[in-house]
Amino acid sequence: MSKVNLSYRAVQAVKPGQLELTVKPIVDPPPGHVRIRVDACGICHTDSATVEGLFPIEWPRVPGHEAVGVIDKIGDGVERWAIGQRVGVGYLGGSCGHCEYCRRGDLVSCKNQEFVGVQHDGGYAEVMIAKQSGLVSIPDGVSSVAAAPLICAGLTTFSALRNGPARAGDLVAVLGIGGLGHLGVQFARHMGFEVVAIGRGPDKAGLAQKLGAHHYVDSTASDPAEALQALGGATLVLATAAGGKAVAETVRGLRPRGRVMVLGASPDPIVVASTDLLFASRAIEGALTGDPTTADMTLKFSQLSGVAAMIETTPLAGAVDAYARMMAGKARFRIVLTMGRETP
Ligand SMILES: [Zn+2]
Ligand SMILES: [Zn+2]
Repeated sequence: MSKVNLSYRAVQAVKPGQLELTVKPIVDPPPGHVRIRVDACGICHTDSATVEGLFPIEWPRVPGHEAVGVIDKIGDGVERWAIGQRVGVGYLGGSCGHCEYCRRGDLVSCKNQEFVGVQHDGGYAEVMIAKQSGLVSIPDGVSSVAAAPLICAGLTTFSALRNGPARAGDLVAVLGIGGLGHLGVQFARHMGFEVVAIGRGPDKAGLAQKLGAHHYVDSTASDPAEALQALGGATLVLATAAGGKAVAETVRGLRPRGRVMVLGASPDPIVVASTDLLFASRAIEGALTGDPTTADMTLKFSQLSGVAAMIETTPLAGAVDAYARMMAGKARFRIVLTMGRETP
């Protein structure tokens, strides 16, 4: 190494809807935190909550919560994590370990948890700081680029399938075959479910089959609930498409005690008749990403089963265009920013 870099490049949101490339000074990690040389960071639809200012944001703010890289400095009090170790940082910034919900083991619901790229800077950057309790282990053999979408989109679908009511052989439907859904279909297939993919239009049928779906339902040509009931009824629907109406249309496709798990964020209300919930004791629930040990398991399971996100990469300097492509629904299926380092 010829000279030590004291600054790093990042792409930050400076006001609603505006991202720009910048240079920031490198700082040491505070106690309980590590500093990471980022290899890759996925662009996720949730980044729009930062970039468009849907959350209260202190500008400027670096978005990005699918960051993978190598620890290059550790703060005081950091245990288990070491310099040179490859880690990931997802949406949850790290639980506190002492609040009421942490004490019950519900780390996702920690009262003192920040969101990465929202309350502090995220991974659209060559360097970032992360809290040790939020870190994810990246196994050897999974590249940083491949790992990036797995610690958010992958974790969200994997965790919901793991925590849902379906057992091997049960009918599981995945609504939407986009960034989340294309991983959800693969995980569901490899976990041993009978898998139905529900998409809009006939053109996604081939893709759904390639991803491992046993059945494809075109929601523009048939009623998804009737199609699911014709297959015996779904024990679980993973709702990755955000539209409230599309989610509501699947409820009557559930078997008794079946559940719709809502993973896609939208302000669009889900309107369901209470009778559709009462009779057959059906439920709709939300699930926010997953905890770090489930993220570790998401990567391990992906490696064991060969589940992989379909990815296009672009250099950090292309983040503005890449973000716009993602927002326009043109990403097929995840875009990952690369920082130009030699990456594993
Ligand atoms: Zn995300
Ligand atoms: Zn807590």
